[in-house]
Amino acid sequence: MPMFVDTSPPGECIFCRLAARQIPAALVCEDELTLAFMDIGQVTPGHVLVATRRHAATLADVTPEEAAAVMQTARRVALAVQTAFDPAGLTLLQANGAVGGQTVGHFHMHVVPRHEGDGIALSWPRKEPGAQVLQDYAARLRAAL
Ligand SMILES: [Zn+2]
Repeated sequence: MPMFVDTSPPGECIFCRLAARQIPAALVCEDELTLAFMDIGQVTPGHVLVATRRHAATLADVTPEEAAAVMQTARRVALAVQTAFDPAGLTLLQANGAVGGQTVGHFHMHVVPRHEGDGIALSWPRKEPGAQVLQDYAARLRAAL
């Protein structure tokens, strides 16, 4: 996990200051709802962050329009990353909450070019609880929708 964690209040976080041009950034593109810029912590060359222009902490705080706009910008940037950096693969990562791996409390998505042996790892402790448990989980989610 990254060492940097920004716990600034809403409107004063590093991405809000970046969006307001109060701090410099290597901007890739921007539109009404999003902005895309180079991650200062470049995990691999071409690593971009796509953030909402408005401060919203997590996925639960963005509007459906902002969520869609972030994904559209991420796709646009990912295609550019493919052209400009020619990675063997590409990972999109969007984290929510400290336990989820979020280090800046302003909604954003990572666009990460991937290469064989790039050292990036996501532990995925697979479990197979069985069909009935899956049905129960699905029922809980249907009830919550
Ligand atoms: Zn912010």
